[in-house]
Amino acid sequence: MYKIAVAGAGAMGGRIGVALHQANYNVTLIDDWEPHVQCINKNGMKIQTETDTYTVKIPAILSKDISDTYDLIILLTKSMQSESMLTHLKNSGAIHEDTAILSMMNGLGHEERLSKIVPLHQIYLAVTMWSAGLKGPGHLLLEGTGSINFQCANGVNNSISTTISKILNDANLNATISKNVFEAIWTKVTVNCVLNPLCTILNQRIGELGAYSQINKMVLLIIEEIVTVAHAKKIDIEAETLLNIITGMYPQSAQGLHYPSMYQDLNNGRLTEIDYLNGQIAKYGQALDIATPINQMLTHQIHQLERNKS
Ligand code: NAD
Repeated sequence: MYKIAVAGAGAMGGRIGVALHQANYNVTLIDDWEPHVQCINKNGMKIQTETDTYTVKIPAILSKDISDTYDLIILLTKSMQSESMLTHLKNSGAIHEDTAILSMMNGLGHEERLSKIVPLHQIYLAVTMWSAGLKGPGHLLLEGTGSINFQCANGVNNSISTTISKILNDANLNATISKNVFEAIWTKVTVNCVLNPLCTILNQRIGELGAYSQINKMVLLIIEEIVTVAHAKKIDIEAETLLNIITGMYPQSAQGLHYPSMYQDLNNGRLTEIDYLNGQIAKYGQALDIATPINQMLTHQIHQLERNKS
């Protein structure tokens, strides 16, 4: 039987894991947050939607208790936990030579870091428009719909890509095999590089940020650095398109009333994914001899706030 694990079963991992379990797949949630794992095993995963609240019985284990091998591992830790989780999965024997590792995390450079642990052809990169929240241990908040766009990290899709697509679509997760997932990744990363640090530093909701009369000038300072780095890496994204996507998020009917996840992480005393967003742009810029002072400054500012909150 095809065995699936979701490694990092917080908000998004919980959402994807529960959807696959409800589609009758053999799914195990793997996580390191003990009260969360205990709660799921004792009471089931509590799901709260716009209209309903119910409980789903789904197996969950701590990563120290891994004893099985999986055919598909969906990696949904926070970016900074991903290498230690993947190393642990490998050392625990959870990965065989055909295991597909599907990363759905936000941020850049996952294929570079993860391929030091598992061969690149076993890694698949996804961009997801699904969202999820965690109200507490074993308690998911699931609203809205979404999609998943993915591709093998070596750029060559294969029969395993087709299998992954079927599994995700059996669970109604709206998956598509991409021919160029890197453009989608850089597009989402640019949105996150703008909204996450600005709303967090300025203590503003997305709509409040967008209400500033000079917002386009401010946002373009960040976008233009990202686009220059992207073009040097042969990623075809354009500043105007990105600005339009971000502008489309300001209305209340879109994301205007929300604070981005970085704001929430920081205000819950947790570290942010800044090093995988603006920080990674700055690192690529340095390697390519492209100046990225704005992205560097945003990274420093968020690290300062992390220091103050921890
Ligand atoms: P999350 O914080 O809910 O979970 C990530 C890990 O942190 C899990 O292992 C979880 O158990 C642990 N964790 C969560 N709260 C904790 C607490 N209070 N104490 C100890 N451990 C805790 O993260 P997420 O939102 O599921 O994000 C995972 C990845 O998916 C990230 O790369 C994120 O950027 C990306 N992503 C998230 C969403 C979303 O809507 N949540 C959407 C798209 C992509």
